[in-house]
Amino acid sequence: DNYKHYIPEMNEDSHNIYFLEKDMRLALEKEEFYLEYQPKIDVKTKKVIGCEALIRWTHPKRGIVSPAQFIPIAEESDLICDIGNWVIKKVCKQLKKWHLEGINTVPVSINISAQHLLKTSLLDTIFTALKANHVSPSLLELEITETSLIQPNQSVFSTIRSLKKLGVKLSLDDFGVGYSSLTHIRKFPLDTLKIDKSFISKVPTEKDDAVIISSIIEMAHGLGLTILAEGVETEEQLLFLEEKNCDHIQGFLFSKPISNDHFKQALISGELIIRG
Ligand code: C2E
Ligand code: MG
Ligand code: MG
Ligand code: MG
Repeated sequence: DNYKHYIPEMNEDSHNIYFLEKDMRLALEKEEFYLEYQPKIDVKTKKVIGCEALIRWTHPKRGIVSPAQFIPIAEESDLICDIGNWVIKKVCKQLKKWHLEGINTVPVSINISAQHLLKTSLLDTIFTALKANHVSPSLLELEITETSLIQPNQSVFSTIRSLKKLGVKLSLDDFGVGYSSLTHIRKFPLDTLKIDKSFISKVPTEKDDAVIISSIIEMAHGLGLTILAEGVETEEQLLFLEEKNCDHIQGFLFSKPISNDHFKQALISGELIIRG
């Protein structure tokens, strides 16, 4: 009953949504989606310590459609769970492939939408995908946003607890925007906080953002959490984050999201800076 029926009177927006939704279902069947990987860098060693899988879509007519455009539409129906399941399987297969190729693999994180986290089947999907590909759970990290934690029900708690017990890592994405509440950090067994890029883009010039970032870093460390800054684009931002003892960074300064082959090369060569 999540299917929407096309009505000619639809306005342009809903028209667009209708077609994108329809096309996304086809895209899953026709393998039009693919993943790119954005490296995560350790601030001290400047080494690649992980990466984030980000979905990409080459639409047969529209060309490249950004996830910022189609993920919110997918989130309006169960489609987001199908897409999420596809990503989970794809990442586990990729980890297996890198392992078989003798690559010293790093953990990969996956973005999980709030609705998907509500599904009791999520745990089983992840468990099965890891097992089928002989992948260690410690190589998988889930990025969730605070939306998932606003009104957590028992099933979300129990899924998260089981995943943690299994050894899967958990991070809070886009921290600081939206429905931020420190309660989330206390209640959930998180490993990492990812500071939203909207804060990073303002440092070091904006004093308030600088204060907020250094306080978040200090708090995270006090709570035993790892802190990652998203959207690092300049040397000045890197210097600021180094000075504030931020653990990890992600951003165009080091690398934009890249193809699996490109990322593999980066892992092999140990190339520290892969800007481009
Ligand atoms: P996100 O999870 O917060 O991912 C970070 C976004 O910031 C990515 O955009 C990335 O390309 C971009 N980014 C990274 N470094 C920089 C930088 O230095 N400067 C700037 N301006 N941007 C940077 P992308 O790939 O377009 O993804 C947008 C959002 O779409 C993601 O935000 C995430 O919420 C969602 N998304 C992407 N892939 C998936 C997926 O597989 N599943 C789900 N559920 N959501 C996804
Ligand atoms: Mg993310
Ligand atoms: Mg983010
Ligand atoms: Mg986001």
